[in-house]
Amino acid sequence: MSRFITGLTCVACGRTYGADKPWIACEDCGPDEGIVDINFDLDAVRHAWQENPLHGRALNHWRYRELLPLAESSIREDWQVGWTPVIDTQRLAGELGLKQLLFKDDGRNPTASFKDRASSVGVAHALQCKASTIACASTGNAATSLAGHAALAGMPCVIFVPRTAPQPKLAQLLVYGAHVVAVQGSYDEAYNLCSAACTKFGWYNRNCAINPVLVEGKKTGGLEIAEQSHSFGGVPDWVAVSVGDGCTVAGIWKGLKQMHQLGQIDRLPRLLGVQADGVAPIGYVLEHGKLPDKLQDGGTIADSINVPVPRNWRKAVNALKEADGVLVCVDDHQILDAMKLGGRHGIYAEPAAAAALAGVMAAREVDVISANDRVLSMVTGSGLKDTKAAIQAGGKPISIKPDMDSLANALEPRGIRGVRGVRGVRGVLDGAN
Ligand SMILES: *Cc1c(COP(=O)(O)O)cnc(C)c1O
Repeated sequence: MSRFITGLTCVACGRTYGADKPWIACEDCGPDEGIVDINFDLDAVRHAWQENPLHGRALNHWRYRELLPLAESSIREDWQVGWTPVIDTQRLAGELGLKQLLFKDDGRNPTASFKDRASSVGVAHALQCKASTIACASTGNAATSLAGHAALAGMPCVIFVPRTAPQPKLAQLLVYGAHVVAVQGSYDEAYNLCSAACTKFGWYNRNCAINPVLVEGKKTGGLEIAEQSHSFGGVPDWVAVSVGDGCTVAGIWKGLKQMHQLGQIDRLPRLLGVQADGVAPIGYVLEHGKLPDKLQDGGTIADSINVPVPRNWRKAVNALKEADGVLVCVDDHQILDAMKLGGRHGIYAEPAAAAALAGVMAAREVDVISANDRVLSMVTGSGLKDTKAAIQAGGKPISIKPDMDSLANALEPRGIRGVRGVRGVRGVLDGAN
């Protein structure tokens, strides 16, 4: 166990526990409500970073080892996770009327989503706990990242998926050798079956809501935004994140806050949470102070944020409140438009990841985000994760006869210049030597 951990706090009632307690639910609030959060000794972390500064460390998320709930010997530098690039899209910022628009592209993680941050830490922790098997229920990316890291670790992995998972994610799971159980039911039913199996068989439960270790992995997204912000003009005014269960936005906020408390950044950004129209229970809680009585299952193309019953809503709601945050909802058209627009600027995002950009556009339109603002939008998953949606966003190729006239006719209306002009037979390359 890490010497930097001081204990646990229940996010529902505030009761605290010593670090020696098993990291499960609060005894007073029970397994559904009593989700706990891990507390760190930040003075000790600050001291460790003075002795061994961050700038001398490897460029992956294990660089923040003191802030991870793992023993030093469980750190897996060989699993290259995190330190994903921040891309400054000046043209797009101009188009949207923003001072700056940055993307942090977490689609470039080993299994192509932000979830690798959590799963890598979860599998390292499962190894540390000497677990026999690891399991989760997921709409997709939590599962694929778990399967990938379990395969690296050589640990059996059981995945409970609802029927609706996109094919590329399912393919990833099967190739990584996970035992994939397609549950004939909703995500909620798959989730409950997984929990029951973990309890009964003693498996390690990689579920972000109930297992606080996973949120600490997601936290590294926020730690990185803070550290990388020094290279792109300081802390952004807004960080935009799509919200399903809420662990991602909660984790990113925790990371930003810790970097602020550690003196690594001098201020905090505001959060823009983005949910899908029709599946926005976190937005409902922010407005009404409680979860909706009626199930919100309107459906969305963004499968990764299609979570009608969030388990971790308290952490997400607390984060959004503390961050003076705003939650916006976007529909499938806005998400597909954002996918396409992001793509035109070099960002290939799956629908749930493009939803963050769609939220930025919506918030800019109503002036919640102003023209003077600098915005960072999290790209939580790669476009390769959902090719069906990508084709819907991208449109069709141009079909032509194999002759130059047809080519020129097809390209001219698209603004490709010079297709009518006369050049050397090898085009511009003729003049290139
Ligand atoms: C999981 C996921 C999210 C949302 O994370 P939550 O912790 O469920 O809020 C957003 N985008 C992608 C691509 C995801 O896989």
